[in-house]
Amino acid sequence: MSDADRTPANPVMPVQLGLDDKFQFRCHKGIACFNKCCENIDILLTPYDIVRLKNRLGLTSREFIDGYTVDCQMDGHGMPGLKLRTREGSTACINLTPEGCGVYTDRPAACRYYALGMVSMRRKDSPADEDSYFVVKEDHCLGHLEPQVQTIRDYRIEQGVDEYDDINREWRQLVLKKRSSGPTVGRPSERSFELFFLASYDVDGFREFVGSPGFDEVFDLDPQFKRDLMQDEVKLLRFGFRLLKQVLFGEKTIELQPDAAHKRMARHREPKVETDKAARLAEAQDRLYDSLGE
Ligand code: SF4
Ligand code: SF4
Repeated sequence: MSDADRTPANPVMPVQLGLDDKFQFRCHKGIACFNKCCENIDILLTPYDIVRLKNRLGLTSREFIDGYTVDCQMDGHGMPGLKLRTREGSTACINLTPEGCGVYTDRPAACRYYALGMVSMRRKDSPADEDSYFVVKEDHCLGHLEPQVQTIRDYRIEQGVDEYDDINREWRQLVLKKRSSGPTVGRPSERSFELFFLASYDVDGFREFVGSPGFDEVFDLDPQFKRDLMQDEVKLLRFGFRLLKQVLFGEKTIELQPDAAHKRMARHREPKVETDKAARLAEAQDRLYDSLGE
């Protein structure tokens, strides 16, 4: 995700740069400002950030959300977002240690981008987004004074942002589409937002949801494809983004079962001998089904 998700204390330099433009910057352990940028954070997390961080910390996605994030809203309609939590009574990142970042090789995309920001735009009649970059200069950051010049392209490779951008791109597109469509689409229902939260942030909960028998009552997934989803978190994220596009914007790419409504009604007529977990999944399934019909 772009550095727009990491709120700078000072105004940015709004000079747009392309991949082959150069900028002067170097961050390293020996620099006098080391860790200053992690002491006052405002970092919006992306779905792939959460997968990487929760696996790094050995947590479920729900445990990570509860312990390491705070809720926020990403637009005027209350689209749910998650920000990286700060230390109790402090503005410093929860992952910051005296030795530096405690999750460095799995740090979020916003941390990798810093001190760059990225803006994605799609021209009318263009099938693809065009990205442009800008340099974020904050007073505390001395990296801009270091005598190292590199292209944006090389910096992105060095920071490992390509993988994050590739996986998060569809999600960013749907968030931007939702934001920019505003009143024309109207406020999505609470059920749509619940599904957005589940598919975007709670990958373990979403796996359970997609793996439940009730999901098959609604969606006609190839069995091998479904097995892949159960084993591969990145595939599961990508599938979740498709599902969200279907629910939020009617972009139908996932086949529905022809008799979904009939089976669902039949299930409701059956005597209920459900455990708490089964009941919770059935309820989530019903909410999804309802949101598809909205
Ligand atoms: S995750 Fe690491 S790099 Fe990012 S703000 Fe926290 S401590 Fe700094
Ligand atoms: S040079 Fe900038 S990015 Fe690097 S540690 Fe210092 S403040 Fe942070």
